[in-house]
Amino acid sequence: MAPDRTELAAELDSALTTLHGAQTDWLARLVSFDSVRGNVAPCQEWLAREFAGRGWSVDSFTIDDVDIAGKPGYSPVVDTDYTDARIVVATHDVEQPAGRSLILQGHIDVVPPGAPELWPHPPFEPQVKDGWMSGRGTNDMKVGVAEMVFALDALRAVGYVPDARVHIQTVCEEECTGNGALATLERGYRADAALIPESLNGQLLRAELGSVWFRVRILGAPGHVLATAGPGANAILAGYDYAGDLANLTAEINNEARDHPWFGHIENPVKFSLGKIRGGDWLGSVPSWCEIECRMSVLPGTSLFEMRERVSACIAGTAKRLGGAFDPVIDWIGFQADGHVFLPGSDAEATLASVHEYVTGHPLETFSQTATSDTRQYDLYYGIPTLCYGGHGEGSHSPSERTNLASMQETTKIIALFIADWCGLRPV
Ligand SMILES: [Zn+2]
Repeated sequence: MAPDRTELAAELDSALTTLHGAQTDWLARLVSFDSVRGNVAPCQEWLAREFAGRGWSVDSFTIDDVDIAGKPGYSPVVDTDYTDARIVVATHDVEQPAGRSLILQGHIDVVPPGAPELWPHPPFEPQVKDGWMSGRGTNDMKVGVAEMVFALDALRAVGYVPDARVHIQTVCEEECTGNGALATLERGYRADAALIPESLNGQLLRAELGSVWFRVRILGAPGHVLATAGPGANAILAGYDYAGDLANLTAEINNEARDHPWFGHIENPVKFSLGKIRGGDWLGSVPSWCEIECRMSVLPGTSLFEMRERVSACIAGTAKRLGGAFDPVIDWIGFQADGHVFLPGSDAEATLASVHEYVTGHPLETFSQTATSDTRQYDLYYGIPTLCYGGHGEGSHSPSERTNLASMQETTKIIALFIADWCGLRPV
């Protein structure tokens, strides 16, 4: 018989206190992998060994091994291939399960560190100070991976395993396409619910924005820099005209979003970012070409088709105003992600809310996030009720990224108790 919640919570507290040093070291090891896009395989190979060592069956494959092109939730890929894009799915299974099955998913891809001068220490040499671990990927979201794995370790330490099938999935491509999560689904992994422990400061994700990524190639009117040239002749300067008009489009969309049911309460939820720019070949010549790469958010209720039409019309308007000889070329180069609302009322949410309140003493709050996660892949396209929920940290995608280790321990306990309620437990 599984213990009641009070008894189990006390046993988990003791086990997680004992495991805290090991969990912190495990997270530091995970963070030490420079798992930016195109370099995730060493990290995933280490995880596959860790999972096999726990007695779980391990399926290690690349996105190339799965046919995902054109499926709902797919985003096109350019300038890279998927030979490195390794995914690991570990499975705990039991005969004649009494409980409900579960997917635990974390992404191990991290965004590039950016300018090294801005880091207080090398980004992939994590440091622990005053109960926080800093470093690229600590908070987004290697800590979540450490939580889901040690939730199962802690249950085992007190004598239990889930009484249902649990898939422990570490994916890549979360930060640019969502194609890693999609590959697990297209490979056939399913469950009665999924939990993605992104660091959300103890809140549950209720709604999120999608995003579109695109590249615009702009041509100028090349000539000697000393010749007089009209507007648009300098392709790099023209790039700023395009970006300015796209920023104006964003302001227009934010204005329309003021009464949006899930994002109306957030000031300017839709963000435009000119993320990369390159162009020109020679300082004595007017730059003949420029490429700008941009990202723009997508509100739930706006289709990707509508969004791309609006962006394309804006770019065509700039081209007309500048009057160049060639039309700019638009490529949709990464995220083509729908916004989504995770409707209240699922059994999985009720279970998490009950456990969260039991552990923290506060009701579970929900929020709308202006970022994009893998959650939509499970929930929106495959009908798996999916919870995105996790602990405290700050500075994700910046050189001040860090995660709180006391929160890691508490969130691990919440995930373990969630597993106990959702999957049931059986003695080891
Ligand atoms: Zn993340």
